[in-house]
Amino acid sequence: MEASTTTPHQSTGVADAHGFTPLRVKAVVRETTDAVSLVLDVPEASRDRFSYRAGQFVTVRVTIGGVEHRRCYSMSSAPAVESDLRITVKRDRDGLVSNWINDTMTVGHDLHTSPPEGRFVLTETDRDIVTFAGGSGITPVFSLVHSTLAATTRRARLFYANRSRDSVIFRDALADLTGTHRGRFEVHHHLDDQDGVVSPQRIADFIADGSHPHTDYYVCGPTPFMDTVERVLRDAGVPKANLHLERFTVAAVPPPNPAETAVTEEVTITLGRQTITVPYRAGNTLLQTARLAGLKAPSSCETGSCGTCMAQVTTGSARMNNNDALDDDEVDEGWVVTCQALPTSPKVEVVYE
Ligand SMILES: Cc1cc2nc3c(=O)[nH]c(=O)nc-3n(C[C@H](O)[C@H](O)[C@H](O)COP(=O)(O)OP(=O)(O)OC[C@H]3O[C@@H](n4cnc5c(N)ncnc54)[C@H](O)[C@@H]3O)c2cc1C
Repeated sequence: MEASTTTPHQSTGVADAHGFTPLRVKAVVRETTDAVSLVLDVPEASRDRFSYRAGQFVTVRVTIGGVEHRRCYSMSSAPAVESDLRITVKRDRDGLVSNWINDTMTVGHDLHTSPPEGRFVLTETDRDIVTFAGGSGITPVFSLVHSTLAATTRRARLFYANRSRDSVIFRDALADLTGTHRGRFEVHHHLDDQDGVVSPQRIADFIADGSHPHTDYYVCGPTPFMDTVERVLRDAGVPKANLHLERFTVAAVPPPNPAETAVTEEVTITLGRQTITVPYRAGNTLLQTARLAGLKAPSSCETGSCGTCMAQVTTGSARMNNNDALDDDEVDEGWVVTCQALPTSPKVEVVYE
């Protein structure tokens, strides 16, 4: 692990109209050949807005070749033990932003960042935690494990899958935690090049001695890995409330069916003290409709992951292209992530929290 640091002057820390604040990169840590950590300097004036819980993420906005892109990155730092805010970005083989960050970010750069979000956090219980991470999925999981060990008496276990030894992020830090918290923390490394792809049996073996109702399970990694782990945990009878999933990749979305949205005539939106009714433009999401109506509707990741843009459909109906933020009960109550919600009834009324 190689670190470069400096003491740069702080950025002004003033949020722009979309809620993004320029945070200066104050240290760059090369974790592996394809992953880098950035320690971001949060100005004093923005400390409250950027306080976070282990497992949460920020959305960063970058401009590459004149085009703006937003991506979510979880904090790998643990708020219970460190005041720095650190994200860790792993190269996606053909990905745009992850490679750009790995190749270009140096100390002194500003990274436009929106405040932390997310529900992949520790429950307020004394349940032990069993965690599963694949590749870059270690980022929030490391924060959860570190925080659990440092700030609670709960025990933690980690099943950590990687392609090969070279790609293991935080290997030394995890070994340190195992040493410091002997008897409270155990890590099992799974390397595909030695052990084969993670099979359901390996997961079943790992949880065999688990006491499911008294354990919280946290899972983050590539989709096939998450699907395998989730299936085994559900088959083992893990209650839904104890199973916490964080998906980094957004499911492939079918294009909107024009006939479906063509039925909608108007949308009424309540945000704060304002209520506005506007004609609906076919194909637009509820978030786009709110913006066209001149409302400053909240939003962040715009992938259906963070839940910042959630609102309740109180009249009519809407369908979400992707939802990785709301649970089934909330959806039943009419909550939608508006960045992904297309109205499907002639009249729709939406109320922001
Ligand atoms: C809540 C959350 C937290 C996250 N936390 C982290 C984290 O801590 N660390 C981390 O490294 N990542 C994290 N991610 C993932 C991260 O946000 C990015 O998705 C990731 O870095 C890839 O972005 P990219 O721009 O490099 O790839 P993109 O350019 O978005 O491409 C992603 C993949 O899609 C493929 N692709 C792109 N365009 C097309 C197309 N038109 N057709 C077919 N395929 C295409 C690319 O080949 C690539 O494989 C998180 C995601 C979420 C939702």
